[in-house]
Amino acid sequence: MQRFPCPFCGPRAETEFHFAVEAGHPRPDGAPSDADWAAYLYDVDAPKGPAREMWLHVTCGTYFLMTRDTQTREILGAEDLG
Ligand SMILES: [Zn+2]
Repeated sequence: MQRFPCPFCGPRAETEFHFAVEAGHPRPDGAPSDADWAAYLYDVDAPKGPAREMWLHVTCGTYFLMTRDTQTREILGAEDLG
């Protein structure tokens, strides 16, 4: 099992975390059209290599940014949204 770094709690089991969204992929404002909502949900980059993503540490209820390599699974950093 991999350990993820919560900026507030330190390293914890990956099962305590949920993926939220790619960083820089803002939710549409107001009442988006079906096409805009579908684009938000399904048109993601899913890069191979380093990626910045928002994650939730369920145990402490905090969202934070994590940079990880999606190919090697190496964690490259974690930062609060401060
Ligand atoms: Zn935490």
